[in-house]
Amino acid sequence: MLLGSRLLNSGKVATPVYITMLAAECAPVIKVGGLADVVFGISRELEIRGNAVEIILPKYDCMRYDQIWGLHIMMPDLWVPWYGGAIHCSVWFGFVHGRKCFFIEPHSSDNFFNRGAYYGFHDEALRFAFFSKAAMEFLLKTDKRPDVIHCHDWHTGLAPVLLAEVYKFHGMQNQRTCYTIHNFKHQGVAGANILWATGLQRPEYYFNYHQLRDNINHGALNFMKGGIVYSNFVTTVSPQHAWEARHTDQGYGLGHTLHVHADKFGGVLNGVDYEVWNPETDRFIPCRYGVDTLQDKYGNKEALRDRFWLRKDYKPIIAYVGRLDQQKGVHLIRHALFYALWNGAQFVLLGTSPDRDISNYFWHLKNYLNDSPDCHLELGFDEDLSHLIYAGADMIVVPSLFEPCGLTQMIALKYGTVPIVRAVGGLVDTVFDRDHSDRPIHERNGYVFHQTDASALESAMQRAIGLWYSYPEEFRSLIANGMRYDYSWNYPGQHYLNIYEHIRHK
Ligand code: ADP
Repeated sequence: MLLGSRLLNSGKVATPVYITMLAAECAPVIKVGGLADVVFGISRELEIRGNAVEIILPKYDCMRYDQIWGLHIMMPDLWVPWYGGAIHCSVWFGFVHGRKCFFIEPHSSDNFFNRGAYYGFHDEALRFAFFSKAAMEFLLKTDKRPDVIHCHDWHTGLAPVLLAEVYKFHGMQNQRTCYTIHNFKHQGVAGANILWATGLQRPEYYFNYHQLRDNINHGALNFMKGGIVYSNFVTTVSPQHAWEARHTDQGYGLGHTLHVHADKFGGVLNGVDYEVWNPETDRFIPCRYGVDTLQDKYGNKEALRDRFWLRKDYKPIIAYVGRLDQQKGVHLIRHALFYALWNGAQFVLLGTSPDRDISNYFWHLKNYLNDSPDCHLELGFDEDLSHLIYAGADMIVVPSLFEPCGLTQMIALKYGTVPIVRAVGGLVDTVFDRDHSDRPIHERNGYVFHQTDASALESAMQRAIGLWYSYPEEFRSLIANGMRYDYSWNYPGQHYLNIYEHIRHK
């Protein structure tokens, strides 16, 4: 793909790169969490910089078809080798807010992607092994030869393995792979059947410790480990988390593998797509505002209260937006809610959980607090509503036990909503405590606590609520500090281009 030469900031002439993204999610068409935002955001940034990007996704029945333009079948017959035979697929093409997306639709009794939900099935490993295989087969059969195949999370960990062990010998010897790990907790651990299904075979070879053998369960293969071992470069989504994954239990058993491959591993902080998340242009909020028109933010606070029937008192609103997963510190989310109510604040929660126990727990809590005029729990997934919450709240809590990057705190900063976060992963790289950070005062943008117990959270919330009540002017300058940060894709976009450049010329 020839797009002309461009100048890098450094003054060097950079060749445009042709990148294919392989992922299980892409916002807003298929979104469960941050993975979706990142796949869309990085793709957009790379295209703005003159590169060519295509995204390959599964075609789920439950994705948001209203977010795709011009969807049509571009390849009616793609036969994907699978076990001894082949599965007939159709490949669809459509634009997702300007991004070129290919959707793979298998026609088989396995019914891999027509199940009314994106995740949560007993054959998860097979579903995404098939997706990786089909994506590689699609590239091969359509003569697409991207410079870089950028794979995301465990779902696509087998693609670099397939490239190096199979497709390289069919004319794809010049393709390079970059593998980004968004969450180490889910790795894709499966049995030998995966090898037979995908045509890798030779179990004695792949069950080697240096190949795909799971570091904990020696009778199983690990997709994510495959992605690490076989890719030309591996990233995770913040520098702090790159360190944690290697040196603490947050690598979930992959620390040693990362250590072995340390020379091709690093952290690149995610960005936020400011086309989507910008209070100056946001079409989902009633009052637009920026750092110089901060008073207009409070029209959104009114609207949020109207929406949830909250009482209109002189009180701050503290919010939580995100998946209700153990990872997110469920016990601390609950404690934040009650601590807010006991200390003169209101609390708003938007979240959903695939875990039945956690979900039941929050439904009970919602019923219990049903009559409270200071609290609302919205248990579901609602992208549009999340914009109003980011804009209408005064503070947001992110008390995660682990957090590879975290987007909610970065979005909140852009919306002038002060983050109160636990010092872990990307939260460490993005939020700087107003009272204790060693950064200059104008660079401090929130509140940070360290331990996972209730009193640690309380100490940070107390300071935040205290400042809001007692020193409103200072609270406003804290807000302004946060809004001035640039957590767009600008910097990470260049960082990824440098990585691509590096692996292409190795
Ligand atoms: P993770 O990827 O672990 O889910 P992130 O903080 O990286 O967490 O990204 C979460 C993204 O998903 C944010 O854009 C957040 O606004 C969005 N999100 C999470 N839960 C919900 C929900 N229930 N409704 C709307 N958006 C949500």
